[in-house]
Amino acid sequence: MSSPMDMLPRVGLGWDRHALAAGESCTLAGVNIDSPVGPTGHSDADVILHALTDALLGAGGLDDLGTLFPDTDPQWKGASSDQFVAAAVALLADSGLRVISADMVVICDQPRLAPHRAAMRANLAQLLNLPIDRVNLKGKTTEGGGSAASQAIEVHAIVMLKGVPRAGGCS
Ligand SMILES: [Zn+2]
Repeated sequence: MSSPMDMLPRVGLGWDRHALAAGESCTLAGVNIDSPVGPTGHSDADVILHALTDALLGAGGLDDLGTLFPDTDPQWKGASSDQFVAAAVALLADSGLRVISADMVVICDQPRLAPHRAAMRANLAQLLNLPIDRVNLKGKTTEGGGSAASQAIEVHAIVMLKGVPRAGGCS
C-alpha cells in the first residue's frame, strides 16, 4: 500500500553529546583519530554516527537509537557504531525510504577536526551509499564558551529521505 504522500521527502534531526576523557580512544564518523582525549560511552562512543542514526530513524518515523540498541545490552558494548547506521538504513529500506542527503555540525574544542574532515565525509558517504556532495560535516569550537562544553563533543545531524517505489511493482 502506498499513497502519493509516501513519495514526498522527509527530514529527520538527530543530536548526541558525549563527555570527553583522557585516554579514551577517539573514533568519529568511523575514522580513528589520534587524540589525547576521546568520547566516553558504552559502544565505541562515535557521537557523530549516533546523531546520524537518530536523524535517520527520526525521519523514518522509527524508534530512536537508545530504544533499538539499548546501552544496557551487552551486545552493544564496544560495538562499532557503523552497525547502527547500517541497521537504520536497512530499516528505512524496509519502509520504502532512502536517504538522499545528510549534514552535520560537530561542536568540540578538541580534537581538531579539520585534518580529518575529508576522511570523515568520505566514510559517511560510503555508509549512506551517497555521493560525497550529498554528505557534509562542519566542525565548530565553543570559542571558550564554558569549561563544561570544552570537555564534551556534541553533534547535530539532519538528513533528508525520499520514498522509493516498492520493489515488485511494474516499472
Ligand atoms: Zn551516543
